Amino acid sequence: MAMKIDEISALIKEQIKKYSQDLETNSIGTVIRVGDGIAFVYGLDDAMNGELLDFGNEIYGMALNLEQDQVGAIIFGNANNVKEGDTVKCTKRILEVPVGKALLGRVINPIGKPLDGLGEIKTNVYRPIEKKATGVMARKSVNTPLQTGIKVIDALVPIGRGQRELIIGDRQTGKTSIAIDTIINQKGKDVICIYVAIGQKESTVSNVIETLKKYDAMSYSIVVSASASNMAPLLYLAPYAGVTIAEEFMFQGKDVLIIYDDLSKHAVSYRELSLLLKRPPGREAFPGDVFYLHSRLLERSAKLNDELGGGSITALPIIETQAGDISSYIPTNVISITDGQIFLQSDLFYSGVRPAINAGLSVSRVGGNAQIKAIKKVSGNLRLDLASYRELESFTQFGSDLDPVTKMKLERGKRTIEVLKQGLHEAMAVEEQVVILFALTKGYLDDIPVLEIKTFEEELVRFLYRDELGKKVIKILSETKDLPKGKEIEEALEKFKSER
Ligand code: ATP
Ligand code: MG
Repeated sequence: MAMKIDEISALIKEQIKKYSQDLETNSIGTVIRVGDGIAFVYGLDDAMNGELLDFGNEIYGMALNLEQDQVGAIIFGNANNVKEGDTVKCTKRILEVPVGKALLGRVINPIGKPLDGLGEIKTNVYRPIEKKATGVMARKSVNTPLQTGIKVIDALVPIGRGQRELIIGDRQTGKTSIAIDTIINQKGKDVICIYVAIGQKESTVSNVIETLKKYDAMSYSIVVSASASNMAPLLYLAPYAGVTIAEEFMFQGKDVLIIYDDLSKHAVSYRELSLLLKRPPGREAFPGDVFYLHSRLLERSAKLNDELGGGSITALPIIETQAGDISSYIPTNVISITDGQIFLQSDLFYSGVRPAINAGLSVSRVGGNAQIKAIKKVSGNLRLDLASYRELESFTQFGSDLDPVTKMKLERGKRTIEVLKQGLHEAMAVEEQVVILFALTKGYLDDIPVLEIKTFEEELVRFLYRDELGKKVIKILSETKDLPKGKEIEEALEKFKSER
């Protein structure tokens, strides 16, 4: 690195001054260049990777590049107040964030400063933001469902506590909505929810917070926000801060749901930092370790074994694709790290199929083990039904004569699509989902006009809580988690249909 003569002489003078002050010179350095939220510091020979650096005046940074004669650091807070020649001190600490119950209901930035104007966060428990993920022996396989309340997800791509399920799709396809509805549905289910906003517009984040408040979900939630107007270092830090807060709860034996909205913007902020730190760019100009960026984050989601308290962190990372391309660099990376993906498609969204989930490309590799028996039984053939409907659909466009079996399949397919549509904030309890999917797969909806399916469903749900037969079905389902041995559901459905 070429340094100007006067810079060098200034540095030497500075160093000599420090010797006379008899300080630990190896952990005190001088800023030689600063800009774009990045500082290059000379003289920090003892700095550790990820160490918190003190720039004075309440400004902190983190060492990222440890080079022969300088350290590249990212600055949190107002980088404009850091100038060339400023003194930087090592702190011998990895960056930490406040954790614990005091954070519930709060909105903070990635270094733990409140953004909601509700005053100081009263906790004296801190955890370092970088930590090795829990090892294999400390884990247990996923066995408890995390109900999203969204029929198509709970039936086709079920999520288990401790799982990592990616939500992927183009812009404006309902990605955030799925995550928020899942948080809302955790009410009363003893799950702590953390929403990490990375590079979102401030207005979007405040809408999310408003929605959470409206549905009374803030009391068990924490929002960590690094919005689009923040510098790249804060964006880079946000998901690690979020998972650190989650880990504290997990090790207390609690279940946590964490949303990273979104990791595409996280990767972009890391690319920005890396280029500014002069790391060599690779594919799509991302640095070589961009896979590690997300793998070390998502590996921290886990289901702990019973000795460790059985807590869990379920992660729903979000990735935004360009024109539905799931095979570009960052999407393929995150797909390979997670345990499955929910793929949202623009054309489905615009044709009114919402949530716009492409059933063919969406999978959940471990969630099936966590699904309750009843829903597993009723959703068994759903995916095949949908796939064969999509295949046959194209034929109908030619208006050709169809044999009765094909016609029947088409009609069933139309109704399946209709049943799987679900509006915003219309979470459905798993027992209700079982009954409506049972009705669908056993043909109780075949004589209902497609346009009436929504009202049929609403009336049916009301019937389940009003009628004696309905109540009995709900009771059996919630107690045994399995389909009734007898004909209770059939009887209830027949009674409901005859009364309509
Ligand atoms: P962005 O790419 O901007 O982050 P996104 O993919 O997160 O967008 P959302 O913000 O969740 O998408 O949703 C986009 C719009 O679609 C919102 O106005 C939302 O109200 C609407 N929407 C999402 N899901 C549904 C649904 N199931 N039913 C009706 N409207 C929906
Ligand atoms: Mg969004």
